[in-house]
Amino acid sequence: MAMTAGGGSVVVPANRAGRRGGVVDEDEKLVFETSKGVEPILSFDEMGIKDDLLRGIYNYGFEKPSAIQQRAVLPIIQGRDVIAQAQSGTGKTSMIALTVCQVVDTASREVQVLIVSPTRELASQTEKVILAIGNFINIQAHACIGGKSVGEDIRKLEYGVHVVSGTPGRVCDMIKRRTLRTRAIKLLVLDESDEMLSRGFKDQIYDVYRYLPPELQVVLISATLPNEILEITSKFMTDPVRILVKRDELTLEGIKQFFVAVEREEWKFDTLCDLYDTLTITQAVIFCNTKRKVDWLTEKMRSNNFTVSAMHGDMPQKERDAIMAEFRAGETRVLITTDVWARGLDVQQVSLVINYDLPNNRELYIHRIGRSGRFGRKGVAINFVKSDDIKILRDIEQYYSTQIDEMPMNVADLI
Ligand code: ADP
Ligand code: MG
Repeated sequence: MAMTAGGGSVVVPANRAGRRGGVVDEDEKLVFETSKGVEPILSFDEMGIKDDLLRGIYNYGFEKPSAIQQRAVLPIIQGRDVIAQAQSGTGKTSMIALTVCQVVDTASREVQVLIVSPTRELASQTEKVILAIGNFINIQAHACIGGKSVGEDIRKLEYGVHVVSGTPGRVCDMIKRRTLRTRAIKLLVLDESDEMLSRGFKDQIYDVYRYLPPELQVVLISATLPNEILEITSKFMTDPVRILVKRDELTLEGIKQFFVAVEREEWKFDTLCDLYDTLTITQAVIFCNTKRKVDWLTEKMRSNNFTVSAMHGDMPQKERDAIMAEFRAGETRVLITTDVWARGLDVQQVSLVINYDLPNNRELYIHRIGRSGRFGRKGVAINFVKSDDIKILRDIEQYYSTQIDEMPMNVADLI
């Protein structure tokens, strides 16, 4: 079976298709824990999607809905509150784009849907997918994100858009200025919703929520939905349809996970240099835990004549945009970054993720390694662990019932 979507293509052997973690479905019912009445719909044609939107979906390269799309598209377009969880890279954000296109009335010029995401790059990626899939329905979408011109936001919003995809700060700001009018908003989507409802963002999200009409439909999406997040959803959701994944089904078979034991922090650098040829087979993302460390490692790699690019939240947005554009185009192959890159960003050619530092929580681990292995592709994750990190790694392994072996010599063959 050949799949092409948004560019790249890959051939997936049929006998592996069933276990690719929710990309192709049929006998995978057991993977999900769903509310009563949720039945998979196996084709986009049977979902009651408007013709011009269907054309956009097929034209974008989607042939068949993924497992989560088979289950969650219908309740979302029927107007239900929905909590949808599925493994990374299985089409959740794409599903936001296509359902949003379906529910918007393009005859009106008012903002009808608000999507909130944790990073500027993710918010604008989602805007782009909406514009692409909704090409034939003339949908107007706008990314309302920090670091961009406020004047441009005002101009776009005054002109009239159907959908706003934004980050919390700028969205809040635009609402308070009354530039973003909320009275026609019928749907609020929180992508990476566990992050949006966690300490850093929660207050801002509630702040936005207070301005939205009472009849609001709310949709929550994420690969990780810890219990403490599910517990607070009753405060702002009504009888939601739940489509959840057990945590021991959350890692993808297609992403092989390894560790390299290093005795001392300094050895990580040499290990990375040794791996450089492997990094450049396709594209790789290297995660550090701080911006300073990203700067330091980038500098050190460059002074040893390795070509790398870097991105983090202290860089001017123009520079972040340029680095994203180059990386998406495949002009750069190795990106050193922070957790600003951990969630949602979709670059199909990334097949290797390195945790130069182990992430600070278990959810981030899933999101980071999920930058590879998009939509059934193969991926490799390599964790650099110091002696006292081994315990943390074993904990992750156990928590997700997965396997993280010592990196083999032939790791390049797995990419
Ligand atoms: P998630 O949000 O679950 O991590 P995305 O929506 O970002 O996943 O999708 C991951 C990749 O899979 C993207 O490149 C997207 O274009 C592709 N994709 C999503 N749904 C489909 C589909 N039904 N058919 C083919 N490709 C798809
Ligand atoms: Mg996503």
